[in-house]
Amino acid sequence: MALQKTKTPMREQEPEERIKNFDEVPFGYSDEEAVVEAERCLQCKHQPCVEGCPVHVPIPQFIQAILDGDVVEANQIIKSKNNLPAVCGRVCPQEEQCEKVCVMGIKNEPVAIGRLERYVADYNMEKGTDKSSAAELEKMKIPELEEKKVAVIGAGPAGLTAAADLAKYGFDVTIFEALHDTGGVLRYGIPEFRLPKDIVDREVEAIKDLGVEIRLNVVVGKTMTVDELFEQGYEAMFIGVGAGLPRFLNIPGENLNGVYSANEFLTRVNLMKAFKYPEYKTPVVVGDKVAVVGAGNVAMDSARTAKRLGAEDVYIVYRRAAEQMPARSEEIHHAEEEGIEFKLLNNPVAIHGEDGRVNKMECLKMKLGEKDDSGRRRPLPIDDSNWMLDVDTVIIAIGQNPNPLLTSNTKDIETKSWGGIKVNEDQETSREGVYAGGDVVTGAATVIKAMGAGKTAAENIKNDLLNKSKK
Ligand code: FAD
Ligand code: SF4
Ligand code: SF4
Repeated sequence: MALQKTKTPMREQEPEERIKNFDEVPFGYSDEEAVVEAERCLQCKHQPCVEGCPVHVPIPQFIQAILDGDVVEANQIIKSKNNLPAVCGRVCPQEEQCEKVCVMGIKNEPVAIGRLERYVADYNMEKGTDKSSAAELEKMKIPELEEKKVAVIGAGPAGLTAAADLAKYGFDVTIFEALHDTGGVLRYGIPEFRLPKDIVDREVEAIKDLGVEIRLNVVVGKTMTVDELFEQGYEAMFIGVGAGLPRFLNIPGENLNGVYSANEFLTRVNLMKAFKYPEYKTPVVVGDKVAVVGAGNVAMDSARTAKRLGAEDVYIVYRRAAEQMPARSEEIHHAEEEGIEFKLLNNPVAIHGEDGRVNKMECLKMKLGEKDDSGRRRPLPIDDSNWMLDVDTVIIAIGQNPNPLLTSNTKDIETKSWGGIKVNEDQETSREGVYAGGDVVTGAATVIKAMGAGKTAAENIKNDLLNKSKK
């Protein structure tokens, strides 16, 4: 039988329905759909897909287990490398990672690896078989490391991954998290309609079950310092505090009422559950006409959230062209289906208002020039092409930098000019015993890259402390 050339689609809520709720958009695969998709995998001997995954999920092996009808085993195979499979199956930029190098994708669409991973994770959560098996944990445990204390700072994907692997090695691990809840951007950034919070809860619970202690409401660098943690007997540390400081356009009018950073906007909606109380337009007020500046995942999430909060016209305003938009293609597709309008090759130059409230955004038309350092064609302004967009809300989603609170209060940790922590290839910082990874090192990036860094750091902390214990 000829192999299906395209990915098996996922059933999802219709656009006109879903813009009225915050429920998850895709429903996931049924057992039958998962098998149809799994059959598309060629079981390549050289497994390029595994190299394409920053945490090296054994992809053909877990797909084979689906075909063998053993979805519980498929989950154990995934969990041997990935501590957050239900999250990754939903939000990984697969087209840039595992699926980018899938052999099936050379002539056809790649195997839908992310959707299959999500199917396996969800199936096992529903059946209550989502935890790592005792046999798998026994394999990783190193008796010499038991009772050695390691601290992890930040409970986002980088910190959670580092903590889970460290606990599997046998360390006594404590995560210190600034907020009142875990997950980092998974909790307060990515909206519920893309990543339901009970999925985050469930995967965090599985990490706690490994023996990881999580202390909430502790801002390291303020409530306590890295030096104090060392004094308390922690022998190594992993910093995964992310990049939570929003960047602004620095144009006139940015401080008018009705202008938000995407961080503030999405955090308010997520943490204050604004969508549960649609009759109250607070704590997030959106008007009828909303402009979102930027075209990454954060921008798509902001635009789609504004639509769900009742805005009629929502625009993505981006200074580059469609093919340069950094968001996952699925998010762009979903945004288009939901009626978000794309004003591409337009750069905001000023925000105008009346009585202290925004009412217009002035944009300048752009054209594409030569390639810049990022390899993308540079956007160039077209002289005298200014025009006005009627808006009552503007959301700025053009990136984030690390918050300097921790690094400015910690001795001997070198940073880059934009505030990112400098690390070597082992994820170790300039201070001995202190490792770092995720957005605080790379700048705003992806969940799976943050997890890959957490994993590398955990392995090197293990090697380092094992060597020290042998001396
Ligand atoms: P974070 O997730 O930022 O976690 C850092 C944690 O550290 C937070 O919990 C924070 O409260 C805590 N912290 C900060 N300072 C301190 C301190 N001093 N002491 C203690 N704790 C502290 N990536 C994708 O791959 N796919 C997507 O679809 C996607 N969508 C996104 C949508 C939005 C709206 C945003 C904002 C980002 C998105 N990303 C996406 C990017 C991705 O979420 C990040 O790259 C990833 O979360 C980085 O993980 P991290 O662990 O480094 O940092
Ligand atoms: Fe692909 Fe992400 Fe899963 Fe790795 S974790 S296999 S990159 S979807
Ligand atoms: Fe299967 Fe694609 Fe990986 Fe080959 S590269 S083993 S087809 S998922």
